[in-house]
Amino acid sequence: MDTFAKVDAAQAKPVPEALHKLFNDPSKVKVQPLPCEIPDVGSKAVHFEAGARTMPHRHTKGQHIIVTDGVGVVADEEHVHVVRPGDVISSPPGGWHWHGATPTTAMSHVTIEDPGLDLDVERGNWDEAYTPDLGR
Ligand code: MN
Repeated sequence: MDTFAKVDAAQAKPVPEALHKLFNDPSKVKVQPLPCEIPDVGSKAVHFEAGARTMPHRHTKGQHIIVTDGVGVVADEEHVHVVRPGDVISSPPGGWHWHGATPTTAMSHVTIEDPGLDLDVERGNWDEAYTPDLGR
């Protein structure tokens, strides 16, 4: 039998303590656990208020992102991409990236990834790439 859910910021919870280091401002981010029936795979929706984003990080096993609401940013080592609902981003294992809202617009995305804390956040910030005009 299939499991159904809906991406809904009203169902989201504060960022767990273990993930605070991943975000520039955890108070502006909410996480909504989503069901995932695929063994060894996890999924969640992440809702970023304007100005909120992750720090640069990489996922040991990679990460799949589907933008569901708003306007946001996904940046890898080469480019800063403005993303909108329907955009799909697939980050390879070990690839550095960061993602979140633009400075002026909220963004929500669904992630599909290893269900554990499959993260490395020990790399410097990329503030210079987060310009006030992003998404305009
Ligand atoms: Mn990521």
